[in-house]
Amino acid sequence: MKAKCDFCYRECTLSEGQRGICHIRVNRDGAIVTENYGEVVALALDPIEKKPLYHFRPGSRTLSVALFGCNLFCSFCQNYSISQNEFYQRRPSRYIPPNVFVQQAIEEKVSVSFTYSEPIVWQDYLLDCARMAKNAAVPTILVSSGTFSRASLSRMLPFIDAYSIDLKGDESFYGRYSKGSAKPVIASLEALAKTSATVEVTTLLIEGEHTLSDVKELGTMLQSLGIRVWHLSRYHPAYKLDHPATSESFLQEALAVAKELKIPHVYGGNSRQDQDTYCPECSALLIKRFPHHVKTFLQAGKCTCSHQLYGDMGS
Ligand code: SF4
Repeated sequence: MKAKCDFCYRECTLSEGQRGICHIRVNRDGAIVTENYGEVVALALDPIEKKPLYHFRPGSRTLSVALFGCNLFCSFCQNYSISQNEFYQRRPSRYIPPNVFVQQAIEEKVSVSFTYSEPIVWQDYLLDCARMAKNAAVPTILVSSGTFSRASLSRMLPFIDAYSIDLKGDESFYGRYSKGSAKPVIASLEALAKTSATVEVTTLLIEGEHTLSDVKELGTMLQSLGIRVWHLSRYHPAYKLDHPATSESFLQEALAVAKELKIPHVYGGNSRQDQDTYCPECSALLIKRFPHHVKTFLQAGKCTCSHQLYGDMGS
């Protein structure tokens, strides 16, 4: 019997035994199951800034987990060995039930992050963990391409506190480099910007592929959606794309363009440029980021001018 998966925007209809585009969701006896449920391929304690999240509990650590799988095919994927289909059978994994994962976060007194590959395609495991985390007052983070189906974004909202979402480029860029579409990402960002969750967007800037006018166009769109935090991150060659790494000078030019667009917080990534947080009202330094620690000058999440900084500054 055919069945439809609603985990991501592709909404695959699958015949008995057929796999979805993500390769890990399979029709078994008329029901679509996540074949690698709970089979963890990456587990690590990370600085939260690495997600990147600069406005959610700065300076804290987060217990990060990934199962194998992705619904896009980015030729520049930085985590291809745990996301791209051709590596599926080769990657060793270890079964970690949700309660064991969440218990580890409780013992470490840290948040949990669903990250590294594309958690949307293994969202049944994600949601089982996130529900338990919520019951235990453990903060929850999703790092994702944002390619939700409408139904799956609704399922996620009650259980995720902070989102780090990739916006890779415009529609043509997604077609050329990811075999995907920008449309579901933009729709998700529009919906997320209206919620109380912390939302930060990252664009991996590929010099020669992204132009400064692309940066202006993307930033203008993000600003109109109400996005408050945008990271422009330097690309390094990975997987199938062998373009040279994005230069610091191009990043600097792109950051200058982005800062003109009235997005309150714009940061550089894979670089030491523009790492610190300033008050959008009075320009005071509010968070200083060093390579291995952060120093905040906030009082109860506020600047001395009384501006409430966007996000969750923790307790
Ligand atoms: S997660 Fe997405 S790609 Fe995978 S089967 Fe479901 S709808 Fe298809």
